[in-house]
Amino acid sequence: MKNVYMDYSATTPVKQEVAEAMIPYFTEIFGNPSTLYGPGLKAKEGLENARCQVAGLIGAEPREIFFTSCGTEADNWVLEGVADAFSKKGNHIITTKIEHHAILHTCQYLEKHGIEVTYLDVDSEGFVDPADFEAAIRSTTILASIMMVNNEIGTLQPIKELAAIAKAHGILFHTDAVQALGNFPIDVNDLGVDFISMSAHKIYGPKGVGALYKRAGIQIPSFVHGGAQERKKRAGTENTAGIVGFGKAAELAGKNLEEHHRHADSLRRMLWDRLSSEVPDVSLNGPADFTRRHPGNLNVSFSYVEGEAILLLLDSFGISVTTGSACSSGSLGTSHVLNAIDVPVTRANGAIRFTTGDFTTEEDIEYVVETVKKVIGRLRELSPVTGEEGW
Ligand SMILES: *Cc1c(COP(=O)(O)O)cnc(C)c1O
Repeated sequence: MKNVYMDYSATTPVKQEVAEAMIPYFTEIFGNPSTLYGPGLKAKEGLENARCQVAGLIGAEPREIFFTSCGTEADNWVLEGVADAFSKKGNHIITTKIEHHAILHTCQYLEKHGIEVTYLDVDSEGFVDPADFEAAIRSTTILASIMMVNNEIGTLQPIKELAAIAKAHGILFHTDAVQALGNFPIDVNDLGVDFISMSAHKIYGPKGVGALYKRAGIQIPSFVHGGAQERKKRAGTENTAGIVGFGKAAELAGKNLEEHHRHADSLRRMLWDRLSSEVPDVSLNGPADFTRRHPGNLNVSFSYVEGEAILLLLDSFGISVTTGSACSSGSLGTSHVLNAIDVPVTRANGAIRFTTGDFTTEEDIEYVVETVKKVIGRLRELSPVTGEEGW
């Protein structure tokens, strides 16, 4: 059976070069980077080299990069850290209704501890209106956290414009750039952002490593307390091999950015062209202008069928995709993102996210299209609710 992986937004395979860069750090170069003898210093060197590589991908200085255990930790840290450090200035945070749960659930936690949160609406393609953002700013607002690229529908926000508004009002600006990294050029100074969350496993690096970019001069407390690692900001003996892998993945992502973008985008467009012309009752979720969405993201709704059923049947043909949201799979109920862009329930239930990536081929697209046609046809035959009735 063929195996076709179409879920690059959930995670990516570790590239061969990345795995090779990591291996010595499990064995020969195993020293604790905090120690002062040879083997420790060698590990420390690998760590600092990775810091330069990650900084290089976003135009930051190495001292502005703090490694964490994942993108989720970076999101938690920045929200809780700013809420804590700026509590004298205010207690209000602005975010959006379509953030990743790493942001939304942290906001909900903070709301139980005296923080007020505004969740901005988005339009039918997932875009935040900068005027809405400006109107939501209060004298007590301390932070805005707006993701750069949405993980479900791929929407690329006008971060530069939003960050400029924040700056004009003296508010710190964070963007969760986990889905943007490696897919779009990012320059922290050009964008004018204060914090960025990143994750290695979405850019062909290992799982369990992330980073927070924190603009030099802004102070927030540490999130994990203990030793003096990461300049006393993130305690715990470093995941040296993982961090080295993240560095290598960042270096490759920078080198391959244009080629990667073009490849993922052309296959994604091919997939959409074929599905939209060969499968009846299929609609696109997210931006119609493909230049304003994640290059590999295609979120489509197949009316009158259940996403879960599509996913399972596709899996039986060796195809890996996700329903509307990876994080809500396993639980019924529509995704908070599709809700926020007002996708009617008849279509939200049959939403599938395909994401193409570096290892996707034209043959994969061909196989996916043919299989989807078969699977959707079969499900609609079985469904008691095709056509106008029922829904
Ligand atoms: C995957 C993802 C995260 C979480 O990153 P982890 O490293 O898996 O914790 C956060 N935000 C977005 C937008 C993501 O896609």
